[in-house]
Amino acid sequence: MTNSSQTEGVAPSRLDSASLDAHFDDLYPIFDDHEARVASDRCYFCYDAPCVTACPTAIDIPLFIRQIQAGQPEGAARTILSQNILGSMCARVCPTETLCEGACVRQTAEGNPVEIGRLQRYATDGLLLANEHPFSRAAATGKRIAVVGAGPAGLACAHRLAMGGSDVTVFDAHAKPGGLNEYGIAGYKAANGIAQTEVDWLMGIGGIEIATGAELGRDTTLDDLSERFDAVFLGMGLAGVNALKIPGADLDGVRDAVDFIDELRQCEDLGTLPIGRHVVVIGGGMTAVDAAVQSRLLGAEHVTMVYRRDRAAMAASDYELDHAATEGVTIVTDAMPVAIHGEGKASEIEFAYTSSGANGLEKTGETFRLRADQVFKAIGQTLEGAPTVLTLESGKIAVDAAGRTSLAGVWAGGDCATGGEDLTVTAVQQGRDAADDIHASLMGGAG
Ligand SMILES: Cc1cc2nc3c(=O)[nH]c(=O)nc-3n(C[C@H](O)[C@H](O)[C@H](O)COP(=O)(O)OP(=O)(O)OC[C@H]3O[C@@H](n4cnc5c(N)ncnc54)[C@H](O)[C@@H]3O)c2cc1C
Ligand code: SF4
Repeated sequence: MTNSSQTEGVAPSRLDSASLDAHFDDLYPIFDDHEARVASDRCYFCYDAPCVTACPTAIDIPLFIRQIQAGQPEGAARTILSQNILGSMCARVCPTETLCEGACVRQTAEGNPVEIGRLQRYATDGLLLANEHPFSRAAATGKRIAVVGAGPAGLACAHRLAMGGSDVTVFDAHAKPGGLNEYGIAGYKAANGIAQTEVDWLMGIGGIEIATGAELGRDTTLDDLSERFDAVFLGMGLAGVNALKIPGADLDGVRDAVDFIDELRQCEDLGTLPIGRHVVVIGGGMTAVDAAVQSRLLGAEHVTMVYRRDRAAMAASDYELDHAATEGVTIVTDAMPVAIHGEGKASEIEFAYTSSGANGLEKTGETFRLRADQVFKAIGQTLEGAPTVLTLESGKIAVDAAGRTSLAGVWAGGDCATGGEDLTVTAVQQGRDAADDIHASLMGGAG
């Protein structure tokens, strides 16, 4: 350790390696057998269970918890994975407090839900870490499908199609598959290389080929894919970011939060990653929280997250915001950035207080400044590189309930398409459901 949290400017190695290892280890360790039984005993196995309705992939939660209780974790894993093939990652990243656990009757009655996420992880990790694939392929259909994007949507789609007997080629611009599971999710939610372990395990179904470093628009076109394959699924996420249009936005030390997190996730030695003494994150969503929390975990002394509206309007959940506060992040609301100051590099950021008026968000006229060696912009991602022939809606590829785009033979799902919630689990659901529709339509059962 060469520096400390008080070292001025942007510096690496603010914490020793033991602290960094501990900070970026699993947020919640996996249940042991006894803990899983105790947690599963709390389930009432509700009829018409609200937790199932709240799960975008409609996992039969009471059934898998009953299987754990009966000492059959592999059966439980199969129940989960038959609905959500990325069930292991979802167990780590799902905002369960607003989905299944938020709807659990024990949450409603006692404010203490059954720990569904941790039970799901207990069940699925067993198969994953043993690299046992529980499904097999149906008879070959002779159909070939191109999937663009190896993120949760693309992988879920590819797996479902391969299981149905089709051959799938997945094209991804990045060097590694996994999408934001590999490049975006906070390190402490995806510790110990779980994203790649899950992809390797998923590939165990057979019939899927992944071409990395292959970008639609640069290395191939939609016309080309439509010609070579029987159907195309687009799961290309949101590769662009919104620009911050204020003076000083181009100073050194100002960067997109997603780039920072990408670098962090791919960093072999976190001690080499430079971080500011004073970090300011602009935004109120999950990306902002993750950038802020991970800055603190790298040893930044002061981290402030600033959002232009009030707390209720923040996209991050109360759970995420409380977690950020517990890690020492200061959260400021009702303030928008107006300028970043510094000589060549950022040193301060100026905000204007806001209030909601008749004409929307208005500046109150009062301003304040925060010290900032680093400013991370987490003000939203945008669709980039989508084929122009497709109809867009609210900046995303327009799809119907089955994932069909405006162009015959082309489906889309996940963050790049309408209808999801920019969550891993909704991307999986959309990829899975599009695969079912592709299969039915190619086999003459729909369309
Ligand atoms: C920082 C951050 C933290 C998040 N944390 C959480 C969380 O804790 N929980 C949660 O549920 N959700 C979280 N999300 C959201 C979640 O990661 C996404 O909703 C999910 O990954 C969407 O999956 P996807 O497959 O649609 O897209 P992505 O995961 O973005 O995958 C898209 C893939 O397409 C590839 N691609 C893009 N363009 C092209 C092209 N032209 N040609 C070929 N390939 C292309 C990309 O390389 C990428 O691999 C987070 C998002 C971010 C940014
Ligand atoms: S709502 Fe809660 S108690 Fe009821 S089945 Fe779901 S997890 Fe069990």
